[in-house]
Amino acid sequence: MEKILNYINGELVEPTNKSYFENFDPSNGTAYSLIPDSEKIDINHAVAAAKEAFKTWTKITRKERSNILMKLADCIEDYAEELIIAESKDNGKPESLARSVDIPRASENFRFFATAILHEQSEVHDMDGKALNYTLRKPLGVAACISPWNLPLYLLTWKIAPALATGNTVVAKPSEITPMTAFLLSKICIEAGLPKGVLNIVHGYGSKIGDVLTGHPDTPIVSFTGGTVTGKHIAGITAPMFKKISLELGGKNPTIIFADAKFDKTVKMAIKASFSNQGQICLCGSRIFVEQSIYTRFKKEFVAQTSQLLVGDPKNEKTNLGAIVSKDHMEKILSKIKQAKELGGTILTGGERQIIPGDLENGYYIRPTVIEGLSSDCIINQEEIFGPVVSLIPFQNEEEVITLANSTKYGLAASIFTENISRGHRMASEIDSGLIWINTWLLRDLRIPFGGMKQSGMGREGGFKSLQFFTEPKNVCVKI
Ligand code: NAD
Repeated sequence: MEKILNYINGELVEPTNKSYFENFDPSNGTAYSLIPDSEKIDINHAVAAAKEAFKTWTKITRKERSNILMKLADCIEDYAEELIIAESKDNGKPESLARSVDIPRASENFRFFATAILHEQSEVHDMDGKALNYTLRKPLGVAACISPWNLPLYLLTWKIAPALATGNTVVAKPSEITPMTAFLLSKICIEAGLPKGVLNIVHGYGSKIGDVLTGHPDTPIVSFTGGTVTGKHIAGITAPMFKKISLELGGKNPTIIFADAKFDKTVKMAIKASFSNQGQICLCGSRIFVEQSIYTRFKKEFVAQTSQLLVGDPKNEKTNLGAIVSKDHMEKILSKIKQAKELGGTILTGGERQIIPGDLENGYYIRPTVIEGLSSDCIINQEEIFGPVVSLIPFQNEEEVITLANSTKYGLAASIFTENISRGHRMASEIDSGLIWINTWLLRDLRIPFGGMKQSGMGREGGFKSLQFFTEPKNVCVKI
């Protein structure tokens, strides 16, 4: 089986203990590669390499850094087809999704931040001619970048690109569930001529090496995307060390549909928001609130279209939902569906594992599932499931749905569908959420502040917010 290797100080290396664990293809349930079971010593080597590389990386001009990152983006495009196939195999997502979203975004992340640094401005505060303050923004050193499995290369590069562009060096730890495209990226970095030690990628279990990385005295900045529980744990480790941290965490996002919304478009968009990437996008809308007067009509159409979605081979261009990322995660989702039934929920469609006869019969597939009849405060409608499972909940009026939408501990994203634009603005202002879409979902502009409120996270990524996060402001006051 192919061995994935760590990328430390410009070289592909085995973990020091030469120990590996299996990496599974969720489409057929078989192990197909080996992942380094790295330990503290590997993280220490990576941090030492990054610390050394920082001395030169931070000194070259932003134009030189920009050129290197643009070259990386070009190389990602050159290897796009290989990356698409690898991402789909590792994660279970349809190749069509990796082709339209994941891999183009990975190169775009590098292009976006490689050019953003060329347009950066800093502040000046004039003290009425008596003195002048200007703000320098400096990189911090070695950034620890930790990413999840749902959008593996997309989210990894969303952190690495601004960290490197601003002159930091990086030790990245991709998810142990989907390490393959990060491994391919390390080969691309070598080919693109990224100076050694600037980016280091260490594979392994988060539970084993995560604390070593986030608690390392030489990683003053930590950017994490993943679950809220892990985020809390990282906050606990980094807070006493006064590290700069960014946490992008879980969500239980509302999709709110008013009777005046454009019906057909809204049904289509609600399905996309529910089941894209098998419902494994932090921004997916898993609580669908529908105004009472159109509830029955909406339910009928939503369920009919959901039951038509094609679940199956990620390689098939017609597939709507591929495999769930792992056996453990599939079992967790199925146990939540079982719990929903026990709590009195009615499964309107789906609700079970789908077996695909033939080569894929051991794959981890779940039919897209729509539940009805559970109250908004029930655990199924409060906790993140992170799978193809949504709940339909009727509401009477604007005031009620704002209360219901805000009733979870999360506050990541919300979508509102209405033709009454004043209502759209009112709702957007009242909903506790870092991201609000009106009459759309997942329409992304990389310049916007991206992140969540409440237990969905801390800090914002995107555009100049990322550049600010990865730099420390330093005020210089000059007496005139
Ligand atoms: P996770 O928290 O289990 O793992 C995320 C990463 O953290 C992995 O690389 C893992 O190895 C690592 N990790 C685990 N323990 C660690 C520790 N003690 N110290 C440091 N790192 C550690 O999350 P997941 O299951 O991979 O991802 C799914 C979650 O991510 C969902 O909750 C989803 O909502 C969230 N997510 C959020 C966003 C966002 O932008 N807000 C985006 C994508 C996913």
